[in-house]
Amino acid sequence: MGEEKSPLDRLLARPDFKPFSGRHAFRVLYMAKRKLNIPPVDEADVLKAVSSLGVMLETEVAMMVALQQTLCMRCGDCCRKRGQIRVKKEELQTIADAFHMEYKRLKDRVKATPLGDGTFTIAQPCPFLKGNMCGIYSVRPGTCRGYPANDLLTSMGNENPFEDCHIADPLLAEVVVKRVLEEQMWKQHPEELKEMAEKRRGELARLDGMSQAERMKLLTEGYARALRKPEK
Ligand code: SF4
Ligand code: SF4
Repeated sequence: MGEEKSPLDRLLARPDFKPFSGRHAFRVLYMAKRKLNIPPVDEADVLKAVSSLGVMLETEVAMMVALQQTLCMRCGDCCRKRGQIRVKKEELQTIADAFHMEYKRLKDRVKATPLGDGTFTIAQPCPFLKGNMCGIYSVRPGTCRGYPANDLLTSMGNENPFEDCHIADPLLAEVVVKRVLEEQMWKQHPEELKEMAEKRRGELARLDGMSQAERMKLLTEGYARALRKPEK
């Protein structure tokens, strides 16, 4: 492969790279190593892959969002313990429409507090929670749809990355596994990896011009289909 950098080395060399380390990283490392119990896996690659989590690719974010639905333990903690959730006006309207309720009545009933920028906060425990399940699942707001993957992403470069959800570590461990396996492939079957990367680039090029939200939705649906758990 000459001087060409491996997939992991390319991630570590990115200008936006921040190492992922500390207690949380150690747990992810342990979990990924248990999942990667397929010899021969280079231990140094697993360490590198954990450290590289400070940078996340768009396709990996989509993979995590799709995986959330499979891994979620339905504990309801994210509906009780986040303090509050942020909801857009259009999202409140969608919920009101879905339940044939007048917008204002719903807003008052859930005590939605306006923030003056077209968004509201709703205090937790969330009034839509039924037992441990979301009572408005199909029309739940974006902040809940992207949880915990989005919270993980925004916190990865922080000193104390987010780790409140039970599936935060397993999600990151899945990304580590993916990266280690790609690294292995780069070493053992570079032509196949190149072919795969080429195919992925072609798929992503078809999404050019779309908004970030639309791209993420399509990518997530693709992963969800692959997991045989279509997004509801
Ligand atoms: S806290 Fe995490 S595991 Fe529990 S319901 Fe929410 S997303 Fe699922
Ligand atoms: S809207 Fe649903 S998913 Fe979001 S916090 Fe409330 S009950 Fe939980």
